[in-house]
Amino acid sequence: MDRVDCIVIGAGVVGLAVARRLALAGGDTLLLEREATHGTQTSSRNSEVIHAGFHYPPGSLKARLCVRGREQLYRYCTDRGVDHRRCGKFIVATADAERDTLQRYLEAGAHNGVHDLRWCTSAEVVELEPAVRCVAALWSPSTGIVDSHTLMQALLGDLLAAGGTLACHADVIGVELGPRGHRVRVLQDGVETELATRLLVNAAGLDAQLLAERMDGLDKALIPPRFLAKGHYFTLQGRAPFRHLVYPVASHGGLGIHVTLDLAGRVRFGPDVEWVKAVDYSPDDRRRDSFVAAIRRYYPDLDATRLQPGYTGIRPKIAGPRDPAADFVIQGPAAHRMHGLVNLFGIESPGLTACLAIADEVAKVAGIDAPGVG
Ligand SMILES: Cc1cc2nc3c(=O)[nH]c(=O)nc-3n(C[C@H](O)[C@H](O)[C@H](O)COP(=O)(O)OP(=O)(O)OC[C@H]3O[C@@H](n4cnc5c(N)ncnc54)[C@H](O)[C@@H]3O)c2cc1C
Repeated sequence: MDRVDCIVIGAGVVGLAVARRLALAGGDTLLLEREATHGTQTSSRNSEVIHAGFHYPPGSLKARLCVRGREQLYRYCTDRGVDHRRCGKFIVATADAERDTLQRYLEAGAHNGVHDLRWCTSAEVVELEPAVRCVAALWSPSTGIVDSHTLMQALLGDLLAAGGTLACHADVIGVELGPRGHRVRVLQDGVETELATRLLVNAAGLDAQLLAERMDGLDKALIPPRFLAKGHYFTLQGRAPFRHLVYPVASHGGLGIHVTLDLAGRVRFGPDVEWVKAVDYSPDDRRRDSFVAAIRRYYPDLDATRLQPGYTGIRPKIAGPRDPAADFVIQGPAAHRMHGLVNLFGIESPGLTACLAIADEVAKVAGIDAPGVG
């Protein structure tokens, strides 16, 4: 049986960052991915926004890892030539009642270490974004955008350069946990193999719970429930009317149908929130009317004929539609009493922003002592 120091399951942006971190710390690291290549699931189906960190409850992992991860990510992108831009964003109140929410963001930001938020009048917003209508706004200069594909390519490059390996078409179908190491059963091209490892990290995203269910020796009561919240995007054809990101105040389950820009300046709106039972990425043009209504609250001149259904993504949630929002869960030996195992659950937004900080946290929880990298 082949043996490696570390196995990471799932080659999304989080699994890539974790595998890179473990390989740079000196571990012989194997990254297993079920699909034909890395990054085809949630990591390539998101808004590609580098979040500042004021949306999350003070003291939460989301807040801490977003704020730390954001600066790590900006540094990493600069050092490694990953396309990104610190373009800033407006969070707009379109009615007086929404000013309180902006005030709460400002206060949460101060707690979380986001000290650069500032109030803007509607006139100040119009000066920079003439198409936007609001009663007031917050300006977040440390929000930005990143090309998630080149980011993942760079993380993979680092993993390989550090001696790690990525194996694709490698579906993990079973795990036997043991006190001195774990056995991982992998189905690759119809052939089943077994691997042994001292450290196993479950970064399987939407399927993290399913994978944990397959772990013999894990207390199943520790596995959180799985909920899926689909988000649709519509793209705007033709000239972009915005130069910055524009967000309404957040809605339950998501951050509201906002304006994001890609690095070529193209505009997309989304994501909305649709609670679904199964993973199905097909777009749905029937959601157009609700998009038009939501967008016109801050962009009244929207020409609805310019909207085209875009892609979709699915949030890996561990709290349902009627529950309060949940935090990231990074479950290590302190929780499940299994040496050399870390399970990641509910790594929804801001998982892209926080990927490097999540990787450091996994290393810490797993007891890897090498200094943080990245
Ligand atoms: C609509 C939407 C918008 C978002 N916007 C943002 C944003 O603007 N900014 C931000 O910071 N975050 C954002 N996020 C969150 C971010 O995209 C995620 O947190 C991040 O991509 C999660 O990465 P991951 O590696 O955990 O998961 P994934 O990318 O889903 O990777 C998991 C991988 O595990 C593999 N896998 C599963 N089971 C197995 C198995 N048994 N064997 C082998 N491989 C397996 C899968 O094939 C997959 O490749 C958004 C998310 C969504 C859904």
